Amino acid sequence: AMVTRLGPSPTGFIHLGNLYGAFVDERLAHQSNGTFYLRIEDTDEKRYVEGAVETIITSLRFFGINFDEGALLNGEKGNYGPYFQSNRGKIYQCFAKELVKKGLAYPCFLTEAELSEIRKSQESAKETTGIYGKYAEKSRNLSYEDIESNIKNNKPYVVRLKSSGNHNMPSEKIRHIEIDDAIRGKLSMPENNQDVIILKANGIPTYHFAHVIDDHFMRTTHVVRGEEWLMSLPIHVELFEKLGFEIPVYCHTAQLLKLDNGNKRKLSKRKDPELSLDYYRQEGYHPQAVKEYLLTILNSNFEEWRIANPDASIDDFKFTTEKMSSGGALFDLNKLNDISKDVLVKIPAEELYSFLLNWAKEFRPEILSLIENNKEYVTKILDLGRNGKKPRKDLIYAKQIFDFISYFFDDYFIIKDSIPKEVNDEDAAEILRRYLASYNHSDDQSQWFDKIRSIAEEMGYASKPKDFKKNPDQYKGHVGHVSTVIRIAIMGRTQSPDVWEIQQILGEKRTRERLEIMIK
Ligand code: GLU
Repeated sequence: AMVTRLGPSPTGFIHLGNLYGAFVDERLAHQSNGTFYLRIEDTDEKRYVEGAVETIITSLRFFGINFDEGALLNGEKGNYGPYFQSNRGKIYQCFAKELVKKGLAYPCFLTEAELSEIRKSQESAKETTGIYGKYAEKSRNLSYEDIESNIKNNKPYVVRLKSSGNHNMPSEKIRHIEIDDAIRGKLSMPENNQDVIILKANGIPTYHFAHVIDDHFMRTTHVVRGEEWLMSLPIHVELFEKLGFEIPVYCHTAQLLKLDNGNKRKLSKRKDPELSLDYYRQEGYHPQAVKEYLLTILNSNFEEWRIANPDASIDDFKFTTEKMSSGGALFDLNKLNDISKDVLVKIPAEELYSFLLNWAKEFRPEILSLIENNKEYVTKILDLGRNGKKPRKDLIYAKQIFDFISYFFDDYFIIKDSIPKEVNDEDAAEILRRYLASYNHSDDQSQWFDKIRSIAEEMGYASKPKDFKKNPDQYKGHVGHVSTVIRIAIMGRTQSPDVWEIQQILGEKRTRERLEIMIK
């Protein structure tokens, strides 16, 4: 059984990368009957945003991702807490002390000015020992008495790891660490040679130290995190070794990239609204569509599996880290939309109705009563054209679905498109007059079409004349243009499901009214 965790900082902003990582965590844990827990990495007080934990939990829950343990809504659950790093100060301090006692870490009293002095001299000497190697000798090897008197004099200090790495030797002699990353395979990196800070002057741990202490004591077996942490891996390995802890399995996920003018780049909070998880909820994407899409970019064999198992539940897919890409994962909204169409077409109209209703409750209260009071009507609209041999697939997300539904309601109905250029205004009015005159609501679909065809023929819209190419001006248009005029009158747009089916839903009265309005 695997134990995984999500360690977000409570900044109030949850992004797609969080969901992407959480999804891997969740799959690994739950596929193996393991545990997935939430740890709040709130050591950076400045960034704390009220309610952030709740936002994290509820946003992920919307996408079907639930934590078993950790910082939960009704308090902490699990035996390895506290799950807020801000409540674990004593634990970090205790282990920092332990390392200092063993000579593996040391208090460092250097001031900013002294540090920048050291950096400068290291640069000019092309020193690669690591910032606190040679030049920090005096800081590393302060006598116990000196340390004591510094502390008595309230001199601020940080605690630094005393790194045993040394890069001042021929490169082939530099020790390398070997790590088996579950996504990237075997990695070999030069060992750490930096005396990194493990406790800051205020006694708060850095990410490096908190990660190692927490993931050890919280029994994490698999650390899933973004590839931006890859370069700090040697630091973490050294810390695990110095503390005598077992190293967990690392899974460094690829960054989400976006194609922008032909170039791949990281998604940015400022430029790409789709980076925020809120975006998907506000637009009203179905969580299953987002999940399917994430799996598609996460696991290279998911698409193949989906094609072979079109109706299987997503939970039956066996997720593996080996099939995850280590290059940048390309995020593409169009692809998400395509997947969403496939997902929605399989969801029964009644369920889609509830989904829409819940979305409106949260994001469009002004249309809520419209949806609520017209359950049957809206459900029929949602079901339009979905049950034939070739079900129409044009429902994508709630906001767009509502746009489609809206033109079945008079309050929202507008004529959006103009009549095709093949039909002049006089003809258009005439088509509608004839159509209305012959309108019989109980006509079946073929009777209905026969009527359209005769109107078209009588008015010269039948078929292309043989000499069409020679005299294109004399060609008026065909039966499709005639039905488009009718479509615009009752739907306001050239693109819509079958006109006859729409009329069945609109009902006789509303259909006639719309035709009459357009004729006037
Ligand atoms: N708090 C870290 C972050 O948000 C967590 C990284 C990790 O999962 O170890 O990037």
